[in-house]
Amino acid sequence: MSLALSGIGVSRGVAIGKAHIILRGSIEVLESAIPEHLVENEISRFLSAIESARQQLQSIQKRIPANTGVDIAAFIETHLLMLDDATLVKTPVDLIREHHCNAEWALKLQRDAVVNVFEQMDDAYLRTRRDDIDHVINRIQRILLDSNAADEQVENVILERSIVLAYDLSPAETMMLEHQGISAFATECGGPLSHTAILARSMQLPAIVGIHSLQHYIQDGETIILDGLQGVLIAGPDEDTLEHYRRRQELEFKRQIELARLVDSPAVTTDGTHIKLMTNIELPEDIDAVSRVSSNGVGLYRTEFLFMNRQQPPDENEQYDSYVSVIEALKGKPLTIRTLDMGADKQIDGSSSCSNPALGLRAIRLCLKNRSLFKPQLRAILRASAHGPVRLMIPMLSNSRELHQVLDLINDTKIALQRESLAFAPDVQIGGMIEVPAAALSAADFASHLDFMSIGTNDLIQYTLAIDRVDDEVNYLYDPLHPAVLRLIKMIIDAGKAAGIPVGMCGEMAGEPRYTRLLLGMGLCEFSMHHTALPEVKSVINSSAIDALAPLVEELLENTRTDRIETRVDSLNQNTF
Ligand code: PEP
Ligand code: MG
Repeated sequence: MSLALSGIGVSRGVAIGKAHIILRGSIEVLESAIPEHLVENEISRFLSAIESARQQLQSIQKRIPANTGVDIAAFIETHLLMLDDATLVKTPVDLIREHHCNAEWALKLQRDAVVNVFEQMDDAYLRTRRDDIDHVINRIQRILLDSNAADEQVENVILERSIVLAYDLSPAETMMLEHQGISAFATECGGPLSHTAILARSMQLPAIVGIHSLQHYIQDGETIILDGLQGVLIAGPDEDTLEHYRRRQELEFKRQIELARLVDSPAVTTDGTHIKLMTNIELPEDIDAVSRVSSNGVGLYRTEFLFMNRQQPPDENEQYDSYVSVIEALKGKPLTIRTLDMGADKQIDGSSSCSNPALGLRAIRLCLKNRSLFKPQLRAILRASAHGPVRLMIPMLSNSRELHQVLDLINDTKIALQRESLAFAPDVQIGGMIEVPAAALSAADFASHLDFMSIGTNDLIQYTLAIDRVDDEVNYLYDPLHPAVLRLIKMIIDAGKAAGIPVGMCGEMAGEPRYTRLLLGMGLCEFSMHHTALPEVKSVINSSAIDALAPLVEELLENTRTDRIETRVDSLNQNTF
């Protein structure tokens, strides 16, 4: 009898293969007292575990093939940097000395404290960075407990074409598994924004996360099917089911070949409208991917990553160098630099956490309050604009006062740079992210003061539907097709058109091919997304006619029932134009 388990599909594709279960759950740590005269020995045991963890990661790093995406190396680098961080090294040593406790317990205490700080953060991406902390700490704990020293289980087995099932996987483990030839993986933990999920997408490895109690239902070695698009894992499939999924694999394979042919062709609808397809990046290194998919530039550069994993924020010159390196790599294509989108983050300014971080002091609110953090970034962005086309984008605007404060600050910065004879592009484009419902409703006002707007659907949906975008319990309510969300998106696009400024979208919705025709019909002309999503979206655009879509979408938007909207979106996608 077949059994279907569902989770969150984080990387699309179908895999059929034998299940390979990696038995590893969360690590149980007990407290034990260390006699005074053995405290220094315990500290040495802890420090040598850190050293072993470092050697393991360096050995993985050496085995990264030269043609692997740079972001994979960056994940390992991030974990190595954490091993140098006082938070993970010095504080546990202090705890062992102070409490005379075992190293495992000191590390657990520190892990709980750090994770608590991360959970207060309002940015979904940063909140999921606690996974990295856990992966590094688990690696050290396993060394201390001498149980299955980190990568042993994944390194010594032949896994060709098998589907790995695990409680959790770190980016390093995922990378090792991919090199051993696995065809897909599923985990009990994790979310769509975790590093492991991002890695799976960039390696195009089908993956599902969040299948609770997965290891109880599947036997090691049995044949299973993993559908990364639908987030479904099927055990004990009958012959018909197997045949159905084999056909889907074949179709997917042919599709990939067709998509690869589109790399150098522009995105143009069948009735002749050129659509801009841009890429979202997090680190300067991600820029390689932009040229691989030949996009029209970067529609969202999330600069907060420059500020992470360090004691002090980068100064103006460091930021300037970093922005210039991306501008030069883009060779004349535009770079949209989003100013810092961080929340109540102790790592940066020591401010205390608030009870409701998503609604608290984040993004532009934090920057306007903390000018010493914001001004160096404005100076660095403006100075970088002398080297190529730069668009400066302000996140999370919610009222026009904020906008005018930022515009004044930008003007003051320009005057200061002029006085200092430092070059910048005087006409640098200033845009705003529209991701708060209040800003969407006031989009016409914002549009009259901005050069462009970009719709941040990840937050717009979160705030419109009052659902925390990283809370598993309310994930089922996260709905881009909610009529209220669609109306707000339409309002923003129309406001931009009326003001004669471009409107783009850089939230996840822009990279989901299911919504491409809907968005084209609403009048969206600029889409920015993860580079792996770009070929598929381009192919939908190249087979769509805006003239035919616009009236159908107008009618669709009059619906107030999500199920009807869904049916209409599906029929839009089935039409031939
Ligand atoms: C968004 O909110 O849609 C967005 C692109 O910004 P982030 O995901 O970084 O909050
Ligand atoms: Mg956002």
